[in-house]
Amino acid sequence: MQRIYLSPAVLACILLVLTALAAGAENDDMAEQRQAMLEAVRESVRQSEDYTGYSELSDNVMLAMGTVPRHEFVAPVHRDLAYRNTPLPIESGQTISQPLIVALMTELLQPQPGDVILEVGTGSGYQAAVLAELVKHVYSIEIIEELATSAAQTLQRLNYDNVTVRAGDGYAGWPEHAPFDGIIVTAAAEHLPLPLLQQLKPGGKLVIPVGEHDGYQELMLVEVDENGDVSRESVLPVRFVPLTGDR
Ligand code: SAM
Repeated sequence: MQRIYLSPAVLACILLVLTALAAGAENDDMAEQRQAMLEAVRESVRQSEDYTGYSELSDNVMLAMGTVPRHEFVAPVHRDLAYRNTPLPIESGQTISQPLIVALMTELLQPQPGDVILEVGTGSGYQAAVLAELVKHVYSIEIIEELATSAAQTLQRLNYDNVTVRAGDGYAGWPEHAPFDGIIVTAAAEHLPLPLLQQLKPGGKLVIPVGEHDGYQELMLVEVDENGDVSRESVLPVRFVPLTGDR
């Protein structure tokens, strides 16, 4: 029998090619699953039209949802479920929101390419990444330090250079970077946080779940007009983890 000897350098090359092929196959699979997720989101948007008034979401929001690799923001153990249209657990007893809710909250903000947005509740960093596809800069605050650190690392690894994350209580907003074109709060508040209203530009939008912590809340779209008058609209019953912090 003839033996073939391969030098370590050749073996290393073969290994590299095989790894690249496997990664390529996984990426194709994830891209396919992401498309299926978009279909599920479209269907859920149609089903909730009576509440939200939306029969479909903007192309740019759907494009952002179709671009961000949600599987990179979930725990390895949940990777197979990353593109289901459901919330999933993340570290520290928190959750990554349902794709429908991420897409709808993004739509409600009406993000524009030059916008600067504040997010309260970074969690995994997924919502920040979706926004980062659409706006100039996203500032995001997370009250749990470990989550802030891991989300910042994920966003950096995926080259989301237009997202800045810090640990802290987002109830107070981020005055150093205010005023914002839009603010999105991804945890349930019992009332509208005054500091966040004060950090909105005239004409800016605040998207926030408001209500009791142990039940359903109302997803609210709050707008502050040029005269400082505040209008609020209830969009959909939702269930979020609570906005925590000492108050
Ligand atoms: N946007 C996240 C994502 O895309 O993964 C999901 C956020 S999760 C539903 C809510 C997050 O809000 C949790 O990570 C929680 O720790 C955080 N949170 C709760 N109260 C907060 C506060 N006062 N300031 C900042 N973050 C807060």
